Amino acid sequence: MSRVVVVGAGVGGLAVAARLACLGHHVTVCEAADEVGGKLGTFERDGFRFDTGPSLLTMPAVFQELFAATGGWPTGLELQRLDPIARYRFADGSTLDSTDDLEQMCRRLEAWSPGSGADWRAFLSRAERIWEASKGPFLESALHGSRSLAALAVTRPTDLATLAPGRSLRDLGRRHLRDPRLRMLLDRYATYTGSDPRRAPAALASIPFVEQAFGGWYVTGGLRRLADALLDRALEVGVSVRTGTRVVAISDPVRGVTLADGTFLPADVVVANADAAHVYGDLVACPLAARKLARATPSLSGFVLLLAVEGRTPGLAHHNVLFPADYDAEFDAVFGAPARPVEDPTLYVSVPPGQAPEGCAAWFVLVNAPRHGTGRGAVDWRAPGLAEGYADRLLDRLAARGLEVRDRLRWREVITPADLEQRTGAVGGAIYGSSSNGATAAFLRPANRSPVPGLFLVGGSAHPGGGLPLVALSARIVSGLLGPA
Ligand SMILES: Cc1cc2nc3c(=O)[nH]c(=O)nc-3n(C[C@H](O)[C@H](O)[C@H](O)COP(=O)(O)OP(=O)(O)OC[C@H]3O[C@@H](n4cnc5c(N)ncnc54)[C@H](O)[C@@H]3O)c2cc1C
Repeated sequence: MSRVVVVGAGVGGLAVAARLACLGHHVTVCEAADEVGGKLGTFERDGFRFDTGPSLLTMPAVFQELFAATGGWPTGLELQRLDPIARYRFADGSTLDSTDDLEQMCRRLEAWSPGSGADWRAFLSRAERIWEASKGPFLESALHGSRSLAALAVTRPTDLATLAPGRSLRDLGRRHLRDPRLRMLLDRYATYTGSDPRRAPAALASIPFVEQAFGGWYVTGGLRRLADALLDRALEVGVSVRTGTRVVAISDPVRGVTLADGTFLPADVVVANADAAHVYGDLVACPLAARKLARATPSLSGFVLLLAVEGRTPGLAHHNVLFPADYDAEFDAVFGAPARPVEDPTLYVSVPPGQAPEGCAAWFVLVNAPRHGTGRGAVDWRAPGLAEGYADRLLDRLAARGLEVRDRLRWREVITPADLEQRTGAVGGAIYGSSSNGATAAFLRPANRSPVPGLFLVGGSAHPGGGLPLVALSARIVSGLLGPA
């Protein structure tokens, strides 16, 4: 039996801990915060309950497999298939409800904009091939830098051509989709990896494909329940979870970790679930990995409003996406130098059922935002007045888009990128670690096996990337690399 210390109890940390305990390892999770879950957080006040991070679950099979492999689906954990998955509203006032029923989606698109149903079908068939070509070698396996791509070129040249490594997601949209609104909808999937569609690879087309093929899901009672279920599972299989326990150093080669109170916790293996930039910047000296990571563009962050709203709002679905007239201006602001808050951002409004007192609703509003910091690619979100002023602006923008809530607001809570950094240790509040901007981005993302002997990385800032399903896949990859005790 080997002693494993997992640094961080986000989804990736809890998932890998449960898997490794099932393989016979002796696992201890050290979590700096007082609660587990990391970005999969929650906020409650006066009978209003909010998920503060993820609101949409895709690829549920990944979690079904995770729970099956560690003891079975948890009692009481219920997934709800969403229909519509999202209601999109465009600046011209038109709307579109997305569904995972492909025939219905194509019919809807055809009625909405002649030709778009056929365009979407053709695009998805290409996206499916991208998914099939990428999931084995890239999403379900450890990546070995550009060697993985080179190997693919030799063993499966057609798959490599399908992935179109030199092409952006924007290029792919231009090629397949003639309605600019549908292209905008496709562009949005780049933000699921914290990226700019103009620079993110065409391979990200697999994201709309998996949403279309496997649906969009909600966890009854809130996505946070997934973190609770993962904690329960980890404890059931014998993992020791220590909250309020910050790791300040990892030895090289791995012999253990040093905690903030000076205690040394011996370990044969360390799996870091903390943000890779924090791991390589603060916890262990690995100049090679740190330099490589510094070459990647950090992912975008998010600015969140939690709104306690009185009354019902006609026309709102569970998930609503309100696009601006000029989507590119959003990416110019978020990834610009200097970066700046987006003036007229895409507004994502999630209003899950049953999360507020009778006659009220709990609105989670999220917009893309530059990460927190002082460099040219960041914004100092702690600057006096900035966060509250920007929150006011977002309420103005909601009103301008037909969602006036200012006169029905009991209270609001603001979560800035700086808050996200402070709460979850994500450097700059970058949601996905590094972005997928640029042709080589996937290879700059930290590998699951680090150059430090005995140190592994799991979670959204490591391979294969962020978002709940990929994070859970990274846990599967790492437990596969370690194998049975
Ligand atoms: C606003 C927002 C919306 C999102 N929406 C979605 C969505 O709809 N769907 C989706 O699939 N994904 C979404 N995501 C992304 C998703 O939340 C993340 O990809 C995922 O939760 C990250 O999990 P992780 O395992 O990487 O760990 P994290 O959640 O990053 O947790 C890392 C943990 O490590 C701990 N830690 C850090 N440093 C130390 C240290 N030195 N010692 C001990 N502990 C440490 C932290 O406290 C934290 O608990 C969203 C994220 C955000 C923020």
